[in-house]
Amino acid sequence: MSRSAHPAGPRHADVLPEGHYSAPPADLNALDAKVWAQTVGRNDDGVVTVGGIPVTRLAEEFGTPAYVLDEADFRARARAWRTAFGPDADVFYAGKAFLSRAVVRWLNEEGLNLDVCSGGELATALSAGMPAERIAFHGNNKSVAEIHRAIEAGVGRIVLDSFQEIVRVAHTAQSLGKRQKVQIRITVGVEAHTHEFIATAHEDQKFGIPLAGGQAAEAVRRALQLDGLELIGIHSHIGSQIFDMSGFEVAAHRVVGLLKDIRDEHGVELPEIDLGGGLGIAYTSDDDPREPHEIAKALTEIVTRECESARLRTPRISVEPGRAIVGPTAFTLYEVGTVKQLDGLRTYVSVDGGMSDNIRTALYDAEYSVVLVSRASDAQPMLARVVGKHCESGDIVVKDAFLPADLAPGDLIAVPATGAYCRSMASNYNHVLRPPVVAVRDGAARVIVRRETEEDLLRLDVG
Ligand SMILES: *Cc1c(COP(=O)(O)O)cnc(C)c1O
Repeated sequence: MSRSAHPAGPRHADVLPEGHYSAPPADLNALDAKVWAQTVGRNDDGVVTVGGIPVTRLAEEFGTPAYVLDEADFRARARAWRTAFGPDADVFYAGKAFLSRAVVRWLNEEGLNLDVCSGGELATALSAGMPAERIAFHGNNKSVAEIHRAIEAGVGRIVLDSFQEIVRVAHTAQSLGKRQKVQIRITVGVEAHTHEFIATAHEDQKFGIPLAGGQAAEAVRRALQLDGLELIGIHSHIGSQIFDMSGFEVAAHRVVGLLKDIRDEHGVELPEIDLGGGLGIAYTSDDDPREPHEIAKALTEIVTRECESARLRTPRISVEPGRAIVGPTAFTLYEVGTVKQLDGLRTYVSVDGGMSDNIRTALYDAEYSVVLVSRASDAQPMLARVVGKHCESGDIVVKDAFLPADLAPGDLIAVPATGAYCRSMASNYNHVLRPPVVAVRDGAARVIVRRETEEDLLRLDVG
């Protein structure tokens, strides 16, 4: 079976043997604070609530499936990152994890910057009032039109990803009579996933310019020569769903090595270093993510130490968490449609969504947990698999789950930690309508991305 290493990332898929699952939790009604948004709890009737609102009411008002996002939690996590890194560093939220105009406003209010990687994300950011100078534009194949629009809008930085792009951005900036701030994304020969990192000699991937073989140094040479560009720093993003900080340590060591070479060759000390995102979250109770202040402390110490030994001024650090901010803030609320017992095997629980609202299980073998949320139950645990309604046997939401044996059609179940890379990767497979995102805060719920309708589908299909 192929294991893909996508930037939005697998979860140590190779660690557990095929077919392995943990023992059932001691209490099926428990809500592990690690995987649930901050304001989630169970009320006296046994119904799970978020922001003080019972999920049964949310289902009635907004339908299922729905992504339910805890706004207070989102803001708290964004603020925790901002505070942890302080005024001498920048936190760029990676918009690809989940972006909407409400999210852009929250980020703006909480003092975070924003990463975008397409014209669509840029348009969303600008339309919600994110100041252009706080936007960074990423991507390995930005179109000339996208580059043009980004420079015209005045984005704070464009992260250059190839030799062609160095020329493209310089040329476009010059044609607009501007000098564009840029960073160069390099690959440092480190790939990090979850509990391990691999130091590779060659970087066999589409992103960035390899440090190996002097390519990154050559990219810097060219960028420094072009009038349309102001080179402000070096960028490195090493992976996703990372718990082990040692990959960042190696990456920072190599990036600082390049900064030193640049100083020695050109007499220039670049003022910024971007260490990317990729910090892990808890998808199940087995995961132990680090707190933002621990991450900030570790990264700042690594960069400071490396710069001291290279006799460089410590550059301004930026980081780009996506999943670590939005991932834990949302859960997906589903209604159980059918419950099919396969004797001696397991029980298949079919819900009203599936791979169209969460592709990560099929794509990365991602693990999730699931809980009955519309009532408490003291029934025995049953081994279940939560599947969707799509015409595809790989349409699995939660591969191995323990749910109460009295689970029945009409019950609501919820999968926590679906804030990142679920709505943003959602599809219309089988012409299933993409679910809404409902934001809950202080006893009030509102739709921030509405449910797709059949009219939406038919509007695109021009016949
Ligand atoms: C995907 C990505 C991120 C965010 O990754 P998370 O795992 O969501 O933190 C940050 N920076 C870059 C360049 C990325 O491609």
